[in-house]
Amino acid sequence: MEPPTVMTRRVTQHSVTPRLALGRRLALTALAAGAALLTLAAPVRAETAAKALEAHRAALEKRLQGQGFTVVTEGPFVVVGDESPTRVRSRATGFLRWTIDLLEKDWFDKQPEKIIEVWLFKNERTYRKGAKKFFGDDPETPFGYYSPDDRALVMNIGPGAGTLSHELVHPYMEANFPDVPAWFNEGVASLYEQPRERDGKLVGTTNWRLPNLQKQLRARTLPSLATMMSTSSDEFYGAEYDSYAMARFLCQYLQDHGKLAEFYRAFVADEKDRTGKSALEAVLGKELAEFEPAWRAWVLGLRR
Ligand SMILES: [Zn+2]
Repeated sequence: MEPPTVMTRRVTQHSVTPRLALGRRLALTALAAGAALLTLAAPVRAETAAKALEAHRAALEKRLQGQGFTVVTEGPFVVVGDESPTRVRSRATGFLRWTIDLLEKDWFDKQPEKIIEVWLFKNERTYRKGAKKFFGDDPETPFGYYSPDDRALVMNIGPGAGTLSHELVHPYMEANFPDVPAWFNEGVASLYEQPRERDGKLVGTTNWRLPNLQKQLRARTLPSLATMMSTSSDEFYGAEYDSYAMARFLCQYLQDHGKLAEFYRAFVADEKDRTGKSALEAVLGKELAEFEPAWRAWVLGLRR
């Protein structure tokens, strides 16, 4: 994604309430208890899911009739777009399918529980108009956002598909790590704004967020990693420093050093520390304060 300006405002309007998170944990326990039964019923469930997806698509297509939208299914999502029908279909079967497959293979065992719509608007004008008309939203970002309440990813696909791979991470993270802190949710999402496939795995490459982070590092306006990792959602989204870039390049460091998957597993398992600090120290084999200078030097040495 190559946006016209460096953006430090939030990309996602995201809220997962503790009540919902608890509900999901209870649901997971029930699923685990009935695992054997569900395994036997898997083909039936897949067929039911496919029918529900098609019914959702048909209903949405009917609702949008005559307004210039194409509506297609790309499991587990329904894709809606105002580009040409050919373009909408190729985005769904191409980039979207590729990203879903790699995210599910590398990262996430569970798909989002409910059907989620992926709205792809051709430019910022139709994106803002559509966000208002269909969801009553005035987006804070020109790129896109995930609305858990509307079960929709709403985005301007004009600047590039990086917004789509970013936003896709959020519903998967919500389903698999319900009490994920904002820094890790946005760090991983931002990592995949410039995705590549390497040895069958999804890899995030150095992107447009680097220069601003380097600038803030040199100006010594960044807090410590420990402080950034301890932010609440409000603190993270309202930060005066570039919290997105800081979280992103911590995730990229771990990825580039072969430790991101291990960290994710340790983080999810560590219910006592939802900042991720103890999991990170365990994976790095050193204290955060000791690691931080190496991370800062690594960021300053990166080139786009
Ligand atoms: Zn995001």
